[in-house]
Amino acid sequence: MHKKKHKRPWPVFIAIILAVIFGTWIGKDATVFGISLYATFDVLGTIFLNALTLVVVPLVSSSIITGIARIGKEGGFGRLGGKMFAFYFSTSLVAILIGLFFVNVINPGASHISPPSSGTELQELTALKESIGHKEGSTLVNVLISIVPSNVLAAFSHGEMLGLIFFSLLFGYSISKIEDGPAKALQDFFQGVFQTMIQVTHVIMKVLPLGVFCLVTKVFMTTGVSSLAAVALFTITVLLALATFMLGAMSFLLKFIARVSPIRHFKAMAPALVTAFSTSSSSATLPITIDCVEKRAGVSNKICSLVIPLGTSINMSGSALYECVAAMYIAQAYGIDLSFSTQFIIVFMALITSVGVAGIPSASLVAIIIILKVIGLPAEGIGLFIAVDRLLDMCRTTVNVFSDSCCAVLVARSEKETGILTTDDFEF
Ligand code: ASP
Repeated sequence: MHKKKHKRPWPVFIAIILAVIFGTWIGKDATVFGISLYATFDVLGTIFLNALTLVVVPLVSSSIITGIARIGKEGGFGRLGGKMFAFYFSTSLVAILIGLFFVNVINPGASHISPPSSGTELQELTALKESIGHKEGSTLVNVLISIVPSNVLAAFSHGEMLGLIFFSLLFGYSISKIEDGPAKALQDFFQGVFQTMIQVTHVIMKVLPLGVFCLVTKVFMTTGVSSLAAVALFTITVLLALATFMLGAMSFLLKFIARVSPIRHFKAMAPALVTAFSTSSSSATLPITIDCVEKRAGVSNKICSLVIPLGTSINMSGSALYECVAAMYIAQAYGIDLSFSTQFIIVFMALITSVGVAGIPSASLVAIIIILKVIGLPAEGIGLFIAVDRLLDMCRTTVNVFSDSCCAVLVARSEKETGILTTDDFEF
């Protein structure tokens, strides 16, 4: 029988490699016919990001409503929720401990004994601190408050993920408790919205290589190799820890607990992983994550609709790891005593604050400042690694998305779902 020939993911990977070379080579000030290339890539990249973000609210709400309406009828909400939170908590803790291990062994801060001191350096940092300082209050208490929005339309229009998820959960659950006739009509309607939004996501994915190219080129136009050199040890520590978590711990769970092929899972999630890498935003990647987990990995809508949107909002394993390594690095650089209790506080705070980290670029910086305050270090400390934050953000966002997808597969396997990762012959 004739076997359908599928496209391979090369265009996106080639786009990333070309973007790294091109961006580093031309630098920020390059122009063509007097037009700034940086501004051009910025505009095109923003249009691509907007297109992805555009899908998030209708896709997430319809996905949760249809999934939960089904769970409400069949039961098992508490069991699924319990498994999901156990996964989020334990994997974030493992991620942090892996980070802690590498930062203690490599000790990157020892080579960076000069905290920022020059005038311009301090000025830049003060501006940065001010720009993100006002968001600090939004991490802990306000996260709790934002779970229950007072105005659902406002939550939808501002894309407030936790409020949107809460309302959709409540709405979907309530559908399962009303009369069969109207319940079916509503379920069919939201199922239709969901399928349509997945279709819209597929259309946007047609320009994925171009969008990825613009976003990555823009990053590399401003992040030169020289900025990497100054914080090379820190960068290596973060990358090693993230890779150990993703390729070691997560792959172990997939292989020995979920009993699926980690390589297949990587292939199934490839479009979402490259999107996370180039956008540095797990929220913007959400439509593609849902598409990959359901359509390529084969997880049911019932599980995917619960695990992926919630995971995108609160399960930030990569960010938690980064927060721990960054706080430890600054503490090492400032030469403070890293006793067991200080390290314990850093681990604990990284675990707690990562829940409040938003799925947007550089969101971890706010959490790191909070940790620095708790251990008595100045917020200026983030200036030690700010030059490489965006690059590392690309990597930790990829890990955040990957961890959510592993959770979906694990929960689905524990619920005895069949048909998960049975093929790796995907279109891309
Ligand atoms: N950019 C990350 C994300 O979207 C959050 C962070 O760590 O800054 O998942």
